[in-house]
Amino acid sequence: MGIRTDIVTAERLVFSEDADLVVVPGVEGEMAILPHHAPLMTMLQPGEVRIKMGAEEYYLAVSGGFLEVKPQRVTILADAAERADEIDVARAEAAKRRAEERLTGRAAEVNNVAAEAALHRALARLKVAQKRRQRRL
Ligand code: ATP
Repeated sequence: MGIRTDIVTAERLVFSEDADLVVVPGVEGEMAILPHHAPLMTMLQPGEVRIKMGAEEYYLAVSGGFLEVKPQRVTILADAAERADEIDVARAEAAKRRAEERLTGRAAEVNNVAAEAALHRALARLKVAQKRRQRRL
């Protein structure tokens, strides 16, 4: 019996399966969650979620959000989340370029926090999409 793992946004249920292992981008670093984990709540940063189910491994990008762990259940509430196969690489590359321009350009001081967050979302999407490509080889 695995740990029921739901990844939810305001718009949709992105993922809902019994997992053997869930690795999430906690604000203080990666966290690995196995079934029967002690209850906890914490914030996530933009990054990659890895989910092992038997021999399969799934990759998703999350934009940050909220993690709740109970012994039989993991819930991630995210502003945005995409499975690897849903990620539009060209869009993420364009978002990365825009964020980098905002961070290095003359308007750098205007909205660094938002640009840095956008950059991290784009990098997380590109990393996860890259995993999908590797798996196809
Ligand atoms: P962009 O500037 O390209 O809109 P963003 O980081 O500002 O990127 P978000 O606000 O995080 O986008 O997400 C808005 C919606 O678009 C969400 O539903 C998210 O899942 C989706 N989304 C964003 N970027 C991508 C992408 N590269 N591929 C697929 N879906 C994406």
